[in-house]
Amino acid sequence: MNGPVLIIGGGPAGMALALALRRKGIESRIVDARPRGAAKADARILALSHGSKLILETLGVWRDIPHTPIETIHVSHAGGLGRTVMRAAEEDVPALGYVLAAGDLAAALDAALGEIPYTDNTPAPQHPDALLVVHAEGRIDDAPDLVTRDYGQHAVICEARGDRPHGRIAWERFTPAGPVALLPFHDGYAVVLTCPAADSARIATLDDAAFLALLQQRFGPRVRLTAVGARLVYPLGLRMRRQVTGEREVWIGNAAQTLHPVAGQGFNLALRDIAELADTLTGAADPGDPALLARYAARRRLDRLATVEFTGSLVRLFSNDIGPLRHLRGAGLLALDLCPPARSFLARRMMFGARAW
Ligand SMILES: Cc1cc2nc3c(=O)[nH]c(=O)nc-3n(C[C@H](O)[C@H](O)[C@H](O)COP(=O)(O)OP(=O)(O)OC[C@H]3O[C@@H](n4cnc5c(N)ncnc54)[C@H](O)[C@@H]3O)c2cc1C
Repeated sequence: MNGPVLIIGGGPAGMALALALRRKGIESRIVDARPRGAAKADARILALSHGSKLILETLGVWRDIPHTPIETIHVSHAGGLGRTVMRAAEEDVPALGYVLAAGDLAAALDAALGEIPYTDNTPAPQHPDALLVVHAEGRIDDAPDLVTRDYGQHAVICEARGDRPHGRIAWERFTPAGPVALLPFHDGYAVVLTCPAADSARIATLDDAAFLALLQQRFGPRVRLTAVGARLVYPLGLRMRRQVTGEREVWIGNAAQTLHPVAGQGFNLALRDIAELADTLTGAADPGDPALLARYAARRRLDRLATVEFTGSLVRLFSNDIGPLRHLRGAGLLALDLCPPARSFLARRMMFGARAW
């Protein structure tokens, strides 16, 4: 036996799992199809929750990742009244979340792997020699029980600068063409502009002045933007396995579910899965024991389904211009703002997942 746990995929999810298992005294090894370090070139900017920060601290990598705290989240929608503001101080946490570069996250995880065996430039073996195979190979292309939802949207991401300090405020604005997020990042913003799939190539290749004007028009006047950086496009949609365990197999990260990034939940959910999997396997003589895997799947079911549904509902409810829905969501945002317990419930849900309900 070549080590009890084989992790296929050395992206952020695979590396974080290897570190979580090592903390629990469980040996693992990673195999990845790409050259080692490829994930460090990931240009995405991620928002991670306070709960994710706590997990990354236990993995010993948090202090090595440059990050910008989010102290306030402002949620609004175009074309109507109603908005909600969540504040870290109300939740008794130093920050609701943190904004960081996916490449920096990958670099910190990679550096922490130390002696954990990592074989790169090698696709998944046909007949793995391990008690448990963890699939962390990202996007799911085929699975017998695959659930897919095409929202018809793409994300155009870039960095931007404002005319004043960001004040550690994250802005989420829902518009009929899709959500726009401005996340405080270093001394500017990380932008996620969601748009109809058919428009994304045109929008991403506008010159800076035209793109800036479009972004400002979509976001509205709450923040005045003065400059934008290079744009990248990501197709969006849901791809989810119904079953995340099989015979001596587990799927984690994007290989288990790829979410719309509307509320920045994808890697946050992956980290909660990883923490639970490492806890469940602790002390087990056989990490591929079906009873253990069933326990893991049962423990993660609620958070997983709730996060997928929460993300999908936000996209469906907010990405349209249907009159009655516009009034409903305005009323919802206002009600949330006027009801601290409901707001706190939502904030804690986003920080810690569905088990905190
Ligand atoms: C625009 C956008 C914004 C996002 N924003 C956020 C956010 O704010 N907050 C958040 O929490 N999440 C966010 N996400 C989600 C987040 O980026 C993903 O959850 C995360 O990158 C998934 O990591 P992973 O390791 O599962 O997959 P990947 O990063 O895809 O890694 C998979 C690895 O497996 C390897 N591999 C693939 N196939 C094989 C094979 N056959 N054999 C061996 N190796 C293989 C690949 O080389 C790769 O290294 C966002 C996503 C997008 C698209």
